[in-house]
Amino acid sequence: MANNPEQPQESVTVSCRFCGAMNRFSTERALLDLQKVICGQCKGKLLRVSGEPLTDLRNEHIAHPWDREALAKLKAIPYLEQILGKLLGSTFDKLQRFNHLGSGIRVDARQAPRLHKLYLEAAGRIDVDPPPLFLVQRPDVNAYTTGAAQPLVAVTTGLVDLMSDREILGVLGHELAHVKLGHVLMRTVAILVANGALALLNLAGLAQLALGPLKMVLFKWYQMSELSADRGELVATGSLTTHIRTHMMLAGGSTKLADELDVAAFVDQANDAEAMRDSELFVSIMEMLSGSQRSHPLVVWRVHHAINWARTQAFYDVLAGAPGSRPLIP
Ligand SMILES: [Zn+2]
Ligand SMILES: [Zn+2]
Repeated sequence: MANNPEQPQESVTVSCRFCGAMNRFSTERALLDLQKVICGQCKGKLLRVSGEPLTDLRNEHIAHPWDREALAKLKAIPYLEQILGKLLGSTFDKLQRFNHLGSGIRVDARQAPRLHKLYLEAAGRIDVDPPPLFLVQRPDVNAYTTGAAQPLVAVTTGLVDLMSDREILGVLGHELAHVKLGHVLMRTVAILVANGALALLNLAGLAQLALGPLKMVLFKWYQMSELSADRGELVATGSLTTHIRTHMMLAGGSTKLADELDVAAFVDQANDAEAMRDSELFVSIMEMLSGSQRSHPLVVWRVHHAINWARTQAFYDVLAGAPGSRPLIP
């Protein structure tokens, strides 16, 4: 039987990074609490889900094949990236930096240190150099990464006030995965195109392209890039329940109803949404986003994909690490 790394499995095999013993276990049982998966031989924790940095995490570990495919198509358009990079370039980055410095709060060791600590943990998990982080006063529950060559990450007060620390960690991991995977420039372009900021593309003589097939590819890839970032998010928290709960909060989180929100019911809903998936629909949804800053649509559809990935051998390989990736002090 061919081993498809994208295929959810009932059980997986990983080797222990402490003693090298091979361990086979049920994914369903493991997902109840990944911290409790221990080596049958040395009793060491098989999976790295306690916040330790994953210094061996590579792009291909978390990039969804649909993201890679669509991004390759975009990058195959001659000079597109260079033109867009030049066009947006340092002016756009400066504007964004100034906008956030001027109206938000820059998070660091001195400013909102609890949030900063979560940010550093997420960066360690994703193995990426973290760009500046800003907290912005907005009631909507959101986080985004913006920029061209020099990105910045922002989270809204609405998100920080609604979510638990572990959920915030996941969201930060998601944003940092966009940075690690080189998504930021094209995602910025997608948002600008969706918002009707076509003047930029006109300048580059790309308006015709943008209105035609490029727009389709760009919007579709935008959605696919979320699936990769969600994988980063799942790796950052090391908990599927946290992951699903985070996305439930994004979809309709309410502090008043927090105790009544049910993860299992949300999973059923995610499966229903997946049944409706359709590329044309994606493009229309992106059109609908025009004028809004909402950058993470289709929350429920994404949860379905995250659940599937959490049952693949690839996911457990990332968490188990190679033998020899063991820390100096186990
Ligand atoms: Zn062992
Ligand atoms: Zn995202």
